[in-house]
Amino acid sequence: FSVPTIELNDGIQIPQLGFGVFKVDPAETERIVTDALEAGYRHIDTAAIYGNEEGVGAAIAKSGIARDELFVTTKLWNDRHQKDSAHAAIDESLAKLGLEHVDLYLVHWPTPAKNDYVEAWQALIEIKELGKTRSIGVSNHQVAQLDEIIAATGVTPSVNQIELHPGFSQLELRTHHQKLGIHTEAWGPLGQGKYDLLSRGAVVAAAEAHGVTPAQVVIRWHLQIGNIVFPKSNAKERIAQNFDVFGFELTEGEVAAITLLDENNRVGSHPDDVN
Ligand code: NAD
Repeated sequence: FSVPTIELNDGIQIPQLGFGVFKVDPAETERIVTDALEAGYRHIDTAAIYGNEEGVGAAIAKSGIARDELFVTTKLWNDRHQKDSAHAAIDESLAKLGLEHVDLYLVHWPTPAKNDYVEAWQALIEIKELGKTRSIGVSNHQVAQLDEIIAATGVTPSVNQIELHPGFSQLELRTHHQKLGIHTEAWGPLGQGKYDLLSRGAVVAAAEAHGVTPAQVVIRWHLQIGNIVFPKSNAKERIAQNFDVFGFELTEGEVAAITLLDENNRVGSHPDDVN
């Protein structure tokens, strides 16, 4: 098998399944990302605020994997939205990653109370023009903010990375993304382990039917509804398990039953509350 790729609205291809490193201890990141690369992942999702870009870079350098076989995402933190600061921030991220460019650069949160997300988006447009990232997108943006940054610049983000899992499946935003040609990236795809997602009946029944784990079922659900997804684990076995999701397919009925688990169960912060 190979991981399916999705073509973004700027023609860039992104592997639909990757590995996320939120809360991966910087001291352990090189080892854990090495485990992920050995398991076969070629898409890594990090962020400046995670403090572990150096470990990601070290694992990439040591792997010997060709740069064009890897897809690396990092994100601009909330206090760097001003243009000068954003330009400095991408240079800092690239230095830590040991890369000349990333594949995808995201505005991490819109921080609407500060009203500077349009400026942040303008900075990302410039950063892409400078060749420091191949694609640009946003994260945690809501419908009105997407509309506003597009109206202000004429440039549509390639992705919006949002909290999304079966208990919080973001139908309104996903529908809006589709209308705009934005691809949906799902963060917290396993609900961050914060509620009983993996013991829900629809998930367990599908796991038993296919002889896989509940986590594999949930990752398959994301892939089959079209999300780009990068579950996180520190454990080598789970890192491999979460990548081993191409040997089975959920039926339409199983996907529908899991989609019905939505109960507006947000486990992370509301974007309006993050500054
Ligand atoms: P996740 O939903 O991937 O959950 C990770 C947790 O799930 C693990 O700590 C573990 O407890 C559990 N888990 C993992 N594999 C398992 C398995 N096979 N079986 C049972 N349990 C398992 O949460 P996440 O790490 O927050 O989200 C994934 C990635 O999304 C992050 O690493 C990061 O890259 C990104 N993210 C982005 C934002 C943002 O604001 N843009 C916010 C949070 C996360």
